[in-house]
Amino acid sequence: MTKLDEKVEPMFQEVLKRNPGETEFHQAVREVIESLGPVLVKHPEFGHHKIIERICEPERQIIFRVPWQDDKGEVHINRGFRVEFNSALGPYKGGLRFHPSVYLGIVKFLGFEQIFKNALTGMPIGGGKGGSDFDPKGKSDDEVMRFCQSFMTELYRHLGEYTDVPAGDIGVGGREIGYMFGQYKRITNRYESGVLTGKGLDWGGSLVRPEATGYGATFFVNEMLKARKDSFDGKICSVSGSGNVAIYTIEKITELGGKVVSCSDSNGYIYHEAGIDLDLVKQLKEVERRRIKDYTNYHKDAKYVAGGNIWQIPCQVAMPSATQNEINGKDAALLVKNGCIAVGEGANMPTTPEGVKVFLDAKIAYGPGKAANAGGVATSALEMQQNASRDAWSFEFTEKKLEDIMVNIHRLCYETAEEYGEPGNYVVGANIAGFIKVAKAMVAMGLI
Ligand code: NDP
Repeated sequence: MTKLDEKVEPMFQEVLKRNPGETEFHQAVREVIESLGPVLVKHPEFGHHKIIERICEPERQIIFRVPWQDDKGEVHINRGFRVEFNSALGPYKGGLRFHPSVYLGIVKFLGFEQIFKNALTGMPIGGGKGGSDFDPKGKSDDEVMRFCQSFMTELYRHLGEYTDVPAGDIGVGGREIGYMFGQYKRITNRYESGVLTGKGLDWGGSLVRPEATGYGATFFVNEMLKARKDSFDGKICSVSGSGNVAIYTIEKITELGGKVVSCSDSNGYIYHEAGIDLDLVKQLKEVERRRIKDYTNYHKDAKYVAGGNIWQIPCQVAMPSATQNEINGKDAALLVKNGCIAVGEGANMPTTPEGVKVFLDAKIAYGPGKAANAGGVATSALEMQQNASRDAWSFEFTEKKLEDIMVNIHRLCYETAEEYGEPGNYVVGANIAGFIKVAKAMVAMGLI
């Protein structure tokens, strides 16, 4: 691991001390503050106002009990979280994750990343994240509804269109957002569309929101390729996961002329040399909620590898779109050795610090999640805009806005990296550009 700048090292030690055992949060903080030494030299006022120390401490952390009953009448207890991390730029904004691995350290890593990601979009949104250790997999619709209603019965008091606006993440899609919005509306007696994003199209949702994270990540990679006078045309690509982000990443890559040959879920991966049949993946995962291994029932020329490592498959563009720390140092080295020239992170923090170092040392185009996957939250902010003006934009208009936002984020990261003497390093560019926006707002608002 690289050594931290001596100005930020004590701040990191303090984070370790104050947040014991939260390894993912430590990793996310380290990755950001590693870039910030030169910023403190250029902006001594940020040091004076203790901006880094304040940013590392969430404004508010909410942990609550979520009791619910399964279809047999048995009672279950889960734990709910909402970490309202930073509201310097706008109401807290960030998704809810339902997955058995969720604990405070995961929610805090995601919330921390969200602060800088949201700043990069240029939209008026602060950073937050939440979720539960509830596992929606294998549950009936009724069970998921009862869980969501119980979750919202506590969370609603902390939300509001000017306060905190959650969205989806792993395990939280249109179905879950619907149940939560219904319960919010029922308890508060307010049809407050702007309190949740990722809603259904008929009741306040935005076109392009389901596609936004995947499309946005692909636009970002396209910009990185363009900056190297290259394109997606004819590129062999690997996309991990087969959920919301993965599906729409595959769709946009294909539209831009690339060929995706593999995707996965937590049990294994598919390799299909002819190119992934996206309609089938959508049917299996979005409609029937089945496992990716069933893909081979329909395509005999495709291969399923149970428990396999998708990054062993040679590809020119890799887009990790499943979960945190899914590419380690060895995987990264193998990807580079096999000819990978670009990595765009649809998932949050999918590459370990060792993996990131491999990509940066190899000087391939590496787009970190907080920049590359910002299209999801940006389109959530577009949904909030439409809700506030009681308007509904066309698909083309909304997609063009998303593309413009991703082009701007790419340019901002690219130019900031150059300004700080690290051309082509999108990690440095994203961390510094996002941090400066939030830091300036915090200085302006005084000690709060
Ligand atoms: P989904 O729940 O729709 O899909 C997640 C996919 O990743 C599934 O295929 C799932 O497989 C797989 N996966 C999840 N956890 C693991 C694990 N521990 N090991 C291996 N595979 C796993 O989630 P999303 O597509 O919404 O989210 C994917 C990533 O993108 C996350 O990192 C999320 O934080 C990030 N992201 C999402 C945004 C959004 O708008 N949805 C916005 C920005 C980032 P299985 O079905 O087997 O669990």
